[in-house]
Amino acid sequence: MVPVLTLRQKHLDEMVEHALEDAPNECCGLIGARDGKVTKLHRAVNAEASPYRFSIDFREQRRIEEAMDQAGDSLAGFYHSHTGSPARPSPTDIRMMATFFGPPYVHVVVSIANRSQPDVRAFYIEGESSTEQEYTLEL
Ligand SMILES: [Zn+2]
Repeated sequence: MVPVLTLRQKHLDEMVEHALEDAPNECCGLIGARDGKVTKLHRAVNAEASPYRFSIDFREQRRIEEAMDQAGDSLAGFYHSHTGSPARPSPTDIRMMATFFGPPYVHVVVSIANRSQPDVRAFYIEGESSTEQEYTLEL
């Protein structure tokens, strides 16, 4: 069963902001949640420093996960940006995510290809397939 993410508008804004700051490179981060609700986004460094792909150093990921643990949160998923392509996981993303990051995690892709209309979508990735997930916006 795939957990549905519940986010606040400010989380969407934070991800878009991070994407714009790191453009043209992709940005990435971890999503902390409690009781199915996103509590905090943790920015990570894109170890690839690339406009086309991202990866997170496992030591940094560990450090962030420990901080989440201490706050009583758990890792709900990851986000990264696409600076010139749609908000859909690329074949490279799917290969990498299936290998390193999950399941059962949700992957949020933030596209800022159209700067005036950022697009944020969530996906569940398992094996070769990615399924778009609805997420709930809490006011
Ligand atoms: Zn990607």
